[in-house]
Amino acid sequence: MQNKKTIEDLELVGKKVLVRLDFNVPMDSEGKITDDRRIKEALKTITYLINNNAKTILMSHLGRPKGKFDMKYSLMPIAKRLSELLNKEVIMARDVIGPDARNKADNLEAGQVMLLENVRFHPEEEKNNELFSKSLASFGEIYINDAFGTAHRAHSSTAGVAAYLPSAIGFLIKKEIDIMGKAISNPERPFIAILGGAKVSDKIGVIENLLDKVDVLLIGGGMAYTFLKAKGYEIGKSILEEEKIDLAREIMDKAEKKGIKLLLPIDTVVAEEFNAESPHMTVDSSAIPENMMGLDIGEKARDMFSQEIENAKTIVWNGPMGVFEMDVFAKGTLALAQAMSKSNGITIIGGGDSAAAVEKLGYADKMTHISTGGGASLEFLEGKALPGIEVIDNK
Ligand code: AMP
Repeated sequence: MQNKKTIEDLELVGKKVLVRLDFNVPMDSEGKITDDRRIKEALKTITYLINNNAKTILMSHLGRPKGKFDMKYSLMPIAKRLSELLNKEVIMARDVIGPDARNKADNLEAGQVMLLENVRFHPEEEKNNELFSKSLASFGEIYINDAFGTAHRAHSSTAGVAAYLPSAIGFLIKKEIDIMGKAISNPERPFIAILGGAKVSDKIGVIENLLDKVDVLLIGGGMAYTFLKAKGYEIGKSILEEEKIDLAREIMDKAEKKGIKLLLPIDTVVAEEFNAESPHMTVDSSAIPENMMGLDIGEKARDMFSQEIENAKTIVWNGPMGVFEMDVFAKGTLALAQAMSKSNGITIIGGGDSAAAVEKLGYADKMTHISTGGGASLEFLEGKALPGIEVIDNK
């Protein structure tokens, strides 16, 4: 992936440049953008195109409009916000590949920016339909993919169009694969991975890939209970994936054979019910009462994990340590975010819920890198090729 052409390798002046970005931002029920981080992350590529006097035609998806026009998923609010951030007009098309988009694209001048409507208004988009890809491609002379968040999907706008145009990646994808790629393939050591979140099954690919690379693996969150069970502990009503117990055992054996330090939470915050009001206490992870469930890592585990983070040179984290959406069970996640924020090493947050947690807790600025992709960053950590990057021309 490191040998892909980048936006800086291409002659852009006066050219129609079709750019796929990830403007899939969260919105409230009134259609107001509640977090514009993804728009801000796209600015570097857009500004570069403007400064190079390209005719910039942007495209993105937003939400799941199920293949038909739905004003609720219009990119109009994105155009407005983008225009404020750029301090420049962003011309909004009323359709994706229809007459309005075509007309506006034909009249676009060098240095101007326009935005096509939500590509998912067409069911062909997610099917990577050839005709639809061709229609999209006909808007540009060059294709830039800078939508890391959808790079793991082979859709028309993220992959299909590349067959018809010279292509390159933008600055955001470059940053994502440079930082995460180096961390995985050539990390400064000790290299530690912290995995959490609800389920083992979501993270198996990541565990298996990283087991060949890390020095230390910390496992917390809901997925830890399947490992604790595999060690023979009783875990009460904690979340368990019965069919993954053998796999958890195999992973622990493999780590031991490879000399990798695999740590599980030594203590656990337990409650009777899955809610913030349920009385809670901390117990040893080998003694979780029958009528209780583990919802966060305990204080000893927090200290132990924080110590490992302090000693590491590269830290990759994916998945919260507990049910961080409830403040009482967010202490483990908070402690780790804090420890990472103090680290002098390279700190990488692998997108999704852990990125949201770090944002919520106010440590976002202290990390080396917070991936903008949830699924994409997981697949990257699994060592998989991402179709949206694979299709781009090599240098
Ligand atoms: P993921 O999307 O796989 O990273 O999982 C994130 C979700 O895991 C969050 O919604 C957390 O509330 C949930 N989670 C973390 N720890 C636990 C736990 N001990 N029990 C149940 N759910 C958990």
